[in-house]
Amino acid sequence: MPNAPEQAPARATNFIKNSIDDDLARAAYAHRTWRGTPGAAQEQAGAAPDPAHIRTRFPPEPNGYLHFGHAKSILLNFGLAKEYGGVCHLRFDDTNPEKEEQEFVDGITDSVNWLVGDRANSPTYFASDYFDWMSDFAEKLIAHGDAYVDSQSAEDMRMRRGTLTEAGVDSPFRARSVEENLKLFCEMREGKHAEGAHILRAKIDMASPNINLRDPAIYRIKHAHHHRQGDKWHVYPMYAYAHPIEDALENITHSLCTLEFEDQRPWYDWLLGKLADLGLLTRPLPRQIEFSRLNLTYIVLSKRYLKQLVDQQHVAGWDDPRMPTLVGARRRGFTAAGFALLAERIGVSKSDSWIDMSVFEECQREVLNTESQRRVAILRPLKLIIDNYPADQREDCFAPNHPQDAALGKRTLSFTRELWIEREDFEETPPKGYFRLAPGAMVRLRYAYVVKCVGVDKDALGNVIAVHGEILPETKSGTPGADSVKVKGNIHWLSAHDAVAAKVRLFDRLFSTAYPGRASENFLDDLNPNSKEVITALVEPALVNAAKEERFQFERNGYFVADLVDHVPGKPVFNRAVTLKDSWAAGK
Ligand code: ATP
Ligand code: MG
Repeated sequence: MPNAPEQAPARATNFIKNSIDDDLARAAYAHRTWRGTPGAAQEQAGAAPDPAHIRTRFPPEPNGYLHFGHAKSILLNFGLAKEYGGVCHLRFDDTNPEKEEQEFVDGITDSVNWLVGDRANSPTYFASDYFDWMSDFAEKLIAHGDAYVDSQSAEDMRMRRGTLTEAGVDSPFRARSVEENLKLFCEMREGKHAEGAHILRAKIDMASPNINLRDPAIYRIKHAHHHRQGDKWHVYPMYAYAHPIEDALENITHSLCTLEFEDQRPWYDWLLGKLADLGLLTRPLPRQIEFSRLNLTYIVLSKRYLKQLVDQQHVAGWDDPRMPTLVGARRRGFTAAGFALLAERIGVSKSDSWIDMSVFEECQREVLNTESQRRVAILRPLKLIIDNYPADQREDCFAPNHPQDAALGKRTLSFTRELWIEREDFEETPPKGYFRLAPGAMVRLRYAYVVKCVGVDKDALGNVIAVHGEILPETKSGTPGADSVKVKGNIHWLSAHDAVAAKVRLFDRLFSTAYPGRASENFLDDLNPNSKEVITALVEPALVNAAKEERFQFERNGYFVADLVDHVPGKPVFNRAVTLKDSWAAGK
């Protein structure tokens, strides 16, 4: 009997993919057109959108830097587009002029590029490029009796909105004539009215059980300078009005957002349905699908809190390696692939949950373990003098660059009479179960010899300032006698001749509690006072010329990266991304 064909590995699925599969199976996008919308002009030069392919978008507001939570949304949207051979738009939702800046546009673009790598099929758009469309649509809604200018005070408007259990009350301005509404809206647009004097609202139903349908605001007056539009506009669209239109104009098929927008979906559908009925948009319309946001322990994921950390200088900036921003993660030495692994592991669902920081760190470790070459660094040096090794002798020891990848070859470490070892690898009075160096004890100097401790030098205060040892010459690694003496400990070392000083920044979690602010009420009270330590370490000479952002495993000490900003060849600066093992597991 012939062998059964090999089964393709089951494709990981989720409720969003199931829904996309259904849409594609019934050819939901067979009749899409661009109708001269901005997407066509920018992207396809007139070609019809491909009906067989989906279109998603990631829509950040350029009012801060992206955080770990955004990574979930980015990887989901770009990942789906890739998997289905579709397109994912990076769209700046820049409808709120006061808080938005070019600096954030640039920062967000960099982070998205870093995270997704290949952006060949993902154009960049700006919501503000559609302001004319949005304003025109608003006029059409007014003309059709579906929108009106309300001139109530904010206070009155709030009073008449009703509550979850009580219906709202119609505004006294709700019955304004189409002509008056059009005239007022034009005046608002021309800057003839003060901020707060009027707003434009959709006319839906003040008694709707869904508060979002109680005549939601469409446009507000703002005499503000816009980072791309300059001083052209005196009215700006509300997010909940602008967003569905942006999706529709770009021919988005699946508009994925976090669960807090679930109650907005009826307004999203009402608005697009209405605009389609008026002939301003064509069906099929984009569909909003909600998923649960990423919550991670030991960090905060709200731009407001992140801004506070920066503004109050609890960190050195948005890209401080301790910040849960993507620019921070990158400087920290975390990898984009580690984020992708996390996204894959946690999946996508509709149930809100917390992911433990250790899961994120473990994903990073897994990627870093595969990707980083090994090097030796002594973080807290202690001199080890080999009494039976001549002062003028020097010999080569060979250390693999990666224990699981022989193709990466080996590098040379030179062995000399004077070495540096880690201070914590020697104990004068060792606790039980301590297998490293102690008076009379033996340990392997990794890639070199077994050494026996034969004495110590102390200063006047009794501190150990150097350890003396004797090597067992027949035990050199890689020779037949290497295993002739069995020892339990295996420590790293550097020749005192070769070791070079490097600045090393040891980072730890920024907060010391899993849910910052939950028990203390102020998240700042939960800052970890020991989240950063700067030391001068001794490193292999090869590390001096590491490239910026080159990552390494410093053997036994963790994963480190040459700092993107401060590291320069000849003046090395390394950041510790993460330790080799989870030091928080047992509760610190
Ligand atoms: P924040 O609420 O933290 O200030 P934001 O959601 O207002 O951020 P936006 O720039 O509007 O920031 O977000 C862009 C996209 O990222 C939105 O689609 C939003 O749903 C998504 N997003 C934001 N936070 C998370 C999160 N924790 N998990 C998943 N997606 C998120
Ligand atoms: Mg938000």
